[in-house]
Amino acid sequence: MSKIRHVLGISGGKDSAALAIYIKSKYPSLDLEFYSSDTGKELDETYQLIQNLEVYLGIKINILKGAENSSEVPFDHFLKMYGGYLPSSNVRWCTKKLKLEPFEKYVGTDDVVSYVGIRGDEDREGYISTKKNIQSIFPFRKNIWSEDVIAKALSNQNIEQIISYSKNIDFGKYQDKATQIISKKIDTSFTQKQKLNALLDTDIKGFNQLVFDFLKTTEYPLSKEDSFPLLDNEDVLVRDDIFRILEESGVGVPAYYNKIDFDINGKTGQYSRSRSGCFFCFYQQKIEWVWLYEQHPDLYKKAMEYEKDGYTWAQGESLEELIQPKRMAQIKEEYVKRMERKAAKNKSPYLIDILDEEEGIGCASCFV
Ligand code: SF4
Repeated sequence: MSKIRHVLGISGGKDSAALAIYIKSKYPSLDLEFYSSDTGKELDETYQLIQNLEVYLGIKINILKGAENSSEVPFDHFLKMYGGYLPSSNVRWCTKKLKLEPFEKYVGTDDVVSYVGIRGDEDREGYISTKKNIQSIFPFRKNIWSEDVIAKALSNQNIEQIISYSKNIDFGKYQDKATQIISKKIDTSFTQKQKLNALLDTDIKGFNQLVFDFLKTTEYPLSKEDSFPLLDNEDVLVRDDIFRILEESGVGVPAYYNKIDFDINGKTGQYSRSRSGCFFCFYQQKIEWVWLYEQHPDLYKKAMEYEKDGYTWAQGESLEELIQPKRMAQIKEEYVKRMERKAAKNKSPYLIDILDEEEGIGCASCFV
């Protein structure tokens, strides 16, 4: 019986959905709990995805809501509390009130391992809780550990301790090499990232065991476990794997990821939404706002209704200004040009790949 809780948050995006399917099938012994924090303003496809996952996995996804006793939907409740002040990337009260606080309330004081679907081809850290009782694990990455754990395990002051643990761990043919790397101090010519990658290149299982042994000397939740099945995980999953998992399972990829053609000045571009989250999310690119206006005019109109008293979703431009025909044409043209430049630079023939690069920008709680 596990001494800690294992939880997996479904954001409504493709990566966390694929993670739920992946973990449930690869590690059936883990007693996982699933949750989703509902802002009340997600796209219909997100609610559909949650239903599909429940059916496919035979699980119950706990729906968490900020201000659960309010008669209003969570986002509107807090918007009123903030005097109509729309959230922005600088003042992101929405993530705090609608995602982080409900999650921390759900967890309480229990020791928890939280599984996060940041992919192996992404260069961003997921949400790392400031609460000591919550530890994040990243199963899709070569390095499954969070940055704070790595910083402690590889710090110069712990070198002797880590060397002594490594003597009891099997690094295969890389035993001496692992010791050499561990012995080398981190400095400006040998960064923490380089040290981490060098160790991962020796033997991933050996490295994971090393970190797990180190955790025993800490207060992290996993220090209370005798074993952890993901120590053996050597998989690295990238974007294509995510689409494959969702398609093969029948759960499906949320429809808003589907690329749709548009014509502008004799050229054809493609747009879609690159991330899950609230339909009015301020992290949207201009072209995504155009997509929302043309594909979901009802939602665009609702987003417009929030813009009052000088508050706007996008910096320096209201949604009313954004849909003036000249402005929309300009956004599309600029977008097509940008895609062409990027495609030429990346030598990728697939314009459609490029929008997805943008999904990494934004909130690690909402877009996973
Ligand atoms: S999706 Fe965007 S608007 Fe919604 S809670 Fe997350 S950051 Fe805020």
